[in-house]
Amino acid sequence: MLYRVLPALSLLLLLARPASAQPEDYSKVVVKTTPVAGSVSMLQGEGGNIGVLVGPDGVLLVDDEFAPLVPKIEAAVKQLSPKPIRFVINTHWHGDHTGGNAALGTGGAIIVAQDNVRKRLSTEQFSTFSQQTLPPSPAVAWPVITFLDSVSFHLGGEDIDVLHVAPAHTDGDSVVFFKKSNVVHAGDLLFNGLYPFIDFGSGGSIDGVVAGADMLLSRIDDTTKIINGHGPLASKADLKRYRDMLATIRDRVRKAIQDGKTLDQTVALKPTAEFDAAWGNGFLKPDAFVALVYSGLKK
Ligand SMILES: [Zn+2]
Repeated sequence: MLYRVLPALSLLLLLARPASAQPEDYSKVVVKTTPVAGSVSMLQGEGGNIGVLVGPDGVLLVDDEFAPLVPKIEAAVKQLSPKPIRFVINTHWHGDHTGGNAALGTGGAIIVAQDNVRKRLSTEQFSTFSQQTLPPSPAVAWPVITFLDSVSFHLGGEDIDVLHVAPAHTDGDSVVFFKKSNVVHAGDLLFNGLYPFIDFGSGGSIDGVVAGADMLLSRIDDTTKIINGHGPLASKADLKRYRDMLATIRDRVRKAIQDGKTLDQTVALKPTAEFDAAWGNGFLKPDAFVALVYSGLKK
């Protein structure tokens, strides 16, 4: 059955504009800075949202978008602090979150990520998103420090816990807690206001994303600010809505599979209907998202 699902899925994904697709012209991208809370800001150019912690000991980044944007990212960081970028945490291996690694690593930043991020960046990968084989990244882009479950930083008066959430969007996801500032960078565990891509080809799991969202909900409060991989800043209430939307659609698609429905029949059931106005206007349109969930659950 999978042979029927995958071509349909890739067609639907190709029709959609991938979140990790590279824009035509990086010279037109503007990197916007948004203060979040405490010592943490968010940078948004093209690709995954970046978290920035500034302090007297230097700067720590969470994710780094695409290589051509590094000069603009560095210029935006300079507006926040004259200190060097000492650490870059990658929330996962995708190119719209790690594309700046090589330039920043060359510049002296230490790249830190979960073990599976290094494994994927250092070996050839097949992208289910673009249906392409991706060569290994250059060695300077690989994380220098890796961890299995968690690592903590104590930098500039901030305590930062990095927790592996697995399997979720991929098999190498981390969520970053800035404890004093009460800010979380959730990586692509959370897409705020758009249906998420879940990378089943990189060990992702929709059950894992729901479980990861539950874990995150149990660790934050109503004043926590969440930087997510894609979309505007989120609150705990936004995360709860996302979690419930995902769990509802997952359960419906799983039921359809158990009832023997084909992909086309499952799409025709419109299992996302009441969520489409709020979540269906991103790069994954409703039918493409149903196809994605179906392909992940059918395995
Ligand atoms: Zn991603």
